[in-house]
Amino acid sequence: MPKKLLMGNAAFAHAALAAGVRVVAGYPGTPSSELVETVAALHASGAAQDVHVEWSTNEKAALELLAGASMAGARCLFTCKQVGLNVASDPLMSLNYVGIKGGLVLFVADDPGPISSQTEQDTRRFASFAKVPVLDPSSPEEGFEMMGYAFELSERHGTPVIIRPTTRINHASAFFDVPDSYQARALPPEGFQRDSKWIIFPRRAYQAHGEINERLPRMAQEFSETPFNPCERTGDGAVRGIVAGGVSTAYVRDALSSMELPAYRFLHVGTPYPFPTAAVRDFLNGLDEVIVFEELDHVLEDELLKLAGAQHLDVRVHGKLDGTTLARGENSTEDCRARLASFFGVEDAAAAAAAAGEGGTAVEPPVRPPVLCAGCPHRGSFYAVKKALHKQPAVLCGDIGCYTLGNAKPLDAIDTCLCMGAGLTMAQGFHVAEPGRKCVAFIGDSTFFASGLTGVANAVYNQHDVTFVVLDNSTTAMTGSQPHPGTGATLMGGQSAPLDIEAVLSALGVGLVVKANAFDVDEAVSAAATAIDFAGPSAVIFTGPCIQLVRPDASVTVDEQACTGCSACIKALGCPAMSMTSVQGDPDEAQDAAPDEQVRNVARVMRVDASLCTGCRLCTSTCPFGAIKKGGAPCSTCS
Ligand code: SF4
Ligand code: SF4
Repeated sequence: MPKKLLMGNAAFAHAALAAGVRVVAGYPGTPSSELVETVAALHASGAAQDVHVEWSTNEKAALELLAGASMAGARCLFTCKQVGLNVASDPLMSLNYVGIKGGLVLFVADDPGPISSQTEQDTRRFASFAKVPVLDPSSPEEGFEMMGYAFELSERHGTPVIIRPTTRINHASAFFDVPDSYQARALPPEGFQRDSKWIIFPRRAYQAHGEINERLPRMAQEFSETPFNPCERTGDGAVRGIVAGGVSTAYVRDALSSMELPAYRFLHVGTPYPFPTAAVRDFLNGLDEVIVFEELDHVLEDELLKLAGAQHLDVRVHGKLDGTTLARGENSTEDCRARLASFFGVEDAAAAAAAAGEGGTAVEPPVRPPVLCAGCPHRGSFYAVKKALHKQPAVLCGDIGCYTLGNAKPLDAIDTCLCMGAGLTMAQGFHVAEPGRKCVAFIGDSTFFASGLTGVANAVYNQHDVTFVVLDNSTTAMTGSQPHPGTGATLMGGQSAPLDIEAVLSALGVGLVVKANAFDVDEAVSAAATAIDFAGPSAVIFTGPCIQLVRPDASVTVDEQACTGCSACIKALGCPAMSMTSVQGDPDEAQDAAPDEQVRNVARVMRVDASLCTGCRLCTSTCPFGAIKKGGAPCSTCS
């Protein structure tokens, strides 16, 4: 088999295909998205035979689709990020009671930090809440091994199984032996068979709960005998132990490789739920103290404390709960090494060398606040709504997507952001509580289909006087430009009829629906004003493609004779392609001048960075002196 360098998510896709997966569905979310994209690419190239792959409208839709396919006997893979599991929680909770037929694996990526999420929730907790087994890989290679086992475990016990990597596992790369092509496992000849067990009546739920309670200890015993909970021992007479889960195992292993420590035991827990009690009991035997490294919640620490208490073990457990390890965010090799040195009472030679200035000085990257891209259509939409509102009191509800960045100054156009689809319904709450304010809710096109429709129906049914602003950039931009129902593109290569957002809003009963080009300021302001002034639920759809989808146009240019240096354009839009520069003296010194200088300053002019400017022309109408001209030289890197 050829050896390939694969990102973790791509490797998990190959592993699932090698296990015979037949149906793959999910909703995009960093850090999980590349798995589905890899399956889609392999399917498109003909390397994945008899596989169905799709981006579903949301996580709930994806898991319910897979529940059906699994009941017919297909091996199925679900993907999402941790908050996506909240959306799929309704079917998941019941599905564990109803059971599955074809193996059903949920690939749920957690995001310690968080780097690109609204919570630091821990899917291991969700697994125990749902009474679903969870596997927690410490590397892409281990996750690759776990995938095949997960399908087999799922079928043997009739339960969904979760694999929960974290960001660094999803996005790390390693070499894998993978075949050139895959064939999905055939369905059983009988396919779906009618059976009362597929119907979740209360009596069946009571019976199923007993079955779940009975199988979990069996799985815990099985986990104790798998290779996924390895214990390393150094020397004899160890009285201290180290426990780690997930990527923290790799950090600890790295740290240990550069430390001289007394004898210890090191346990990696790769199957946190149901907890492999027998293996851990064996590890603890004779130890006085244990330190636990894990990210997000203190799941392993809780289990160790429970085990020590239940079995009256004379062992002290240290971790997040007593402040011995980090309570939140990501661990690191350096942090683990320092805490191990303290735990073992030895000097941390590497930390001491760093403190003494040996081994070079770490360079901190500059702090760069996230900002909407130059040429982003959302900039025009936010600008138009603010202009249309003028100084009317208003609440501006945001949502999950690139456009959450509309909260940054100078746009300053987002007051709230809670979860997918919440902006539409939160605006209705503001309207009920404070009827005197205008309530405007922004939502992206993909989020509109994922989680927005019920909010729209609620506003129409209960007649809430709110304005919905749909930011239609024709893609799911934040997670990597995935298609959605409004694009009409599918991962199976076909083109379906795109759902028309305007028609959907009208069909749901929104009283006024207007549409405008996000880059045409006059048209956009007029459309926003019309919708905001309407009594009752209204909507404006701003269209304009994401810059990832189109070739940039020629950059705008600045007439330096006409430019007064007033910086009104920058204060209006905050486009990162614009900056102030000096027309006298050292331009680099002038770069540091504050862009919000209030006085007319003929020594400074606005400069457009042609390598960033997409030629969207939004800024041309913001200059009171007509100094920004359409059409300069196309950017040399793109043309
Ligand atoms: S381009 Fe126009 S708005 Fe921008 S700084 Fe110059 S004069 Fe002011
Ligand atoms: S045209 Fe103006 S607003 Fe658009 S990307 Fe260029 S500098 Fe930014």
